[in-house]
Amino acid sequence: MTPLAPGSTIGILGGGQLGRMLGIAAAQLGYRTEILAPDEEAVAAQTASSFIRADYQSRIVLDDFAHSANVVTFEFENIAVDPVTYLATKVAVHPSPAALAIAQDRAKEKQFADDLGGRTAPWARVESLEDLQAAIATIGTPAILKTLRLGYDGKGQVQLHSADEAESAWAAIGARPAILEGVVPFTHEFSIILARGQDGAMVSYPPPWNEHRDGILARSTLPAPAEIAVHWAEAATLTGRIADRLGYVGVLTCEFFATPDGPVFNEMAPRVHNSGHWTIEGAVTSQFENHIRAICGLPLGDTGITARRIEMQNLIGSEAENWHAALLEPDAHLHLYGKQQRPGRKMGHVTRLVR
Ligand code: ADP
Ligand code: MG
Repeated sequence: MTPLAPGSTIGILGGGQLGRMLGIAAAQLGYRTEILAPDEEAVAAQTASSFIRADYQSRIVLDDFAHSANVVTFEFENIAVDPVTYLATKVAVHPSPAALAIAQDRAKEKQFADDLGGRTAPWARVESLEDLQAAIATIGTPAILKTLRLGYDGKGQVQLHSADEAESAWAAIGARPAILEGVVPFTHEFSIILARGQDGAMVSYPPPWNEHRDGILARSTLPAPAEIAVHWAEAATLTGRIADRLGYVGVLTCEFFATPDGPVFNEMAPRVHNSGHWTIEGAVTSQFENHIRAICGLPLGDTGITARRIEMQNLIGSEAENWHAALLEPDAHLHLYGKQQRPGRKMGHVTRLVR
């Protein structure tokens, strides 16, 4: 493993807040970052060394990007796999396009976890209304119908309470390929955030308790309650197996439901994760720094926590208007992403530490 020397350039596909915080971590370690994103408002570009505003499809743009970057990563998983595969023929890309392809398909990621001995909700792939009716007959209700691709923050999902709702649910998700999942009667949600280096070394963070509101993460708290802590080892082992099987390099996040039967794997994200934002102040090494370390071939940093209690609160939409109040609290750390405010949009977060 030859480390990429500080001063080198990290190419990041995607222009959102995750790219922004990756750029800050990269800059701290002496790297330059180049953002490639089509967004008019690419907030990652505000903290990067350079910005190419273009879509991901042009070979000329990709050639240019691959030429100026020494390593390439991505900050969101809904990017088409093709351009990432193309880039990988020209420059090192971490995580791999194969990992991206699995994580952006809900059926593939569930199957992957099943094959590695993970526990998942009963699920079935659905291509038509007839498939959906058959799946309801096997899985029962309540159940959740989720588009196979492009869902995030609870978008592209609808809950079914009875078989009568099949037709309306199918229409509601736009009659697209989907999966049907049984509703898991969980007590808590949590995530395992793991970093795997180029040498196969792995570190993972203590799991946060994640509370969602309207399908969006509202709060992550550590240490997690006992209902989660009992599942930590099993969930971290599965996440490690997934990372090993993929030959994964970088930060990988798996979301789980805590149930009396054990941890139930929900989904994976091939990237740094909102439920890991607390690691900026609440862990010795942040998830962003560990991602940069991993993709640059550097040793991974300590994932231990720095406080007795840690709480990360997302600032969604107009909640960000109260940003000033956070500055008056002791050991509260305000992060604003520089975005135009819209309802339901993640505008920033506050991390509160109790030492
Ligand atoms: P997204 O990609 O939008 O994050 P998720 O699959 O994580 O999609 O679903 C969003 C939220 O919906 C979850 O965090 C959880 O609260 C709830 N949810 C999703 N699937 C299930 C399920 N099978 N049983 C119970 N709740 C679920
Ligand atoms: Mg999720």
